[in-house]
Amino acid sequence: MSDLRVRFAPSPTGYLHIGGARTALFNYLLAKQQGGTYVLRIEDTDVARSTQQSVDAILDAMKWLGFSCDEGPFYQSDRFDLYKQKVEELVQAGKAYRCYCTQEELDAKREAAMQEGRKPKYDGTCRNRTDQPDAPYVIRFKLPDDKEAVTFDDKIKGPITFRLEELDDLIIARTDGTPTYNMVVVIDDAEMGITLVIRGDDHVNNTPRQILLYEAFGYPVPEFAHVPMILGSDKKRLSKRHGATSVMAYQEEGFLPEAMVNYLVRLGWSCGDEEIFSMEDLIEKFSLANVGRAAGVFNPEKLLWLNSHYIKTGDPVRLAGLLKPFLEAKGIATEGGPDLVAVVKSLQERAATMVEMADGAAFYFVDSVVYDEKAQEKFLTPDQKPLFETILAELEKCGEFVEAQLEVAFAKIMEITELKFGKVAQPLRVALTGGTASPSIYEVLQVLGKERSLARISQALQTF
Ligand code: GLU
Repeated sequence: MSDLRVRFAPSPTGYLHIGGARTALFNYLLAKQQGGTYVLRIEDTDVARSTQQSVDAILDAMKWLGFSCDEGPFYQSDRFDLYKQKVEELVQAGKAYRCYCTQEELDAKREAAMQEGRKPKYDGTCRNRTDQPDAPYVIRFKLPDDKEAVTFDDKIKGPITFRLEELDDLIIARTDGTPTYNMVVVIDDAEMGITLVIRGDDHVNNTPRQILLYEAFGYPVPEFAHVPMILGSDKKRLSKRHGATSVMAYQEEGFLPEAMVNYLVRLGWSCGDEEIFSMEDLIEKFSLANVGRAAGVFNPEKLLWLNSHYIKTGDPVRLAGLLKPFLEAKGIATEGGPDLVAVVKSLQERAATMVEMADGAAFYFVDSVVYDEKAQEKFLTPDQKPLFETILAELEKCGEFVEAQLEVAFAKIMEITELKFGKVAQPLRVALTGGTASPSIYEVLQVLGKERSLARISQALQTF
């Protein structure tokens, strides 16, 4: 066990975004690699925007990706008493104060600052106020007077300095008493003993404020690593315009979690020119030192390429289990149909997603074949009747449908009809599958088995 304690702290205000999943992955990998602890914390303090549905969506995505946490999930909504106590502690210590400025007053000051070309920030009106009017107030954290700058050594971006004059007295509790993000994140990271904060670089600007809060409480300051954001192919921030940004949308589109993990890690991290990484490889090889400083560019083709790699090399039994719900979603019941594992094996080379595999597998499970119109017109013409009669007769004679036996039967059919292999196989393919593209004809015959294959050939004969 090492002392490393990391956390993933999503806000449940929507589905789990690709960027969030990558942050979770980086945390998870480092914890596993170093024998540290990976904490999951649901940041649901924004009661109006947090929903149980998003909590479930995040937990489902974590489960699908295989990022099991060592501690948690913790919920910030369970911890309000602690936050309240901590806010009070700062007030008692004179490090935070009640601010009674109204929104209108603040807006007017902001307006004036903008007009004068000054950066709008709180002017400290209530800093030294001693009266306590009977009016709504927020609590603000007093920026220390004895400090000019905050510096931290970001493990990805290098040293970063913020001058205090760029900051102002931060609101740490709203008028309704609820604490704000920067406040609770510090309390939680400190109380949960987090030693390294890995998160998206949209939080870089929060970090100096948080460091000041750590110092005000006397908490040890953790290390920080801010991961660059993910852009779309047009170099704009990744959004729905670029395709699905929800991790679980990819599960629904038939991506495998190992492809997603492999893809996510490479969005920002590299290891020579290697592309294929199993979770075990990653746990061994991942390091923040090799996370680039530039934003990652989302490339759906690469994700698809990785997915087809993992489908090709995946365990057919596992894939069969994954395929079933995709078939069911198409209204296809697999009971009583061909062996699902054999179906998968015949399609692994041909499908880039499980949705494609389900599409490609559908013909195996139909009671009667539905012909593609063009294919039927071209290949199931009345002059093919003798060919199909020969095929039926020879395949009926064929003992077991295994490749060697089928080859013998085909040789015979080709001899009798004086046709080349393709001229036999293609019409037969249409009869068996309904279309002109499918796994090899021997595979189709084997997966369907003798009885189903012969029934389909008879069906074709009925059409002449
Ligand atoms: N809850 C914050 C978010 O989802 C993350 C906070 C953090 O990692 O510090 O953006």
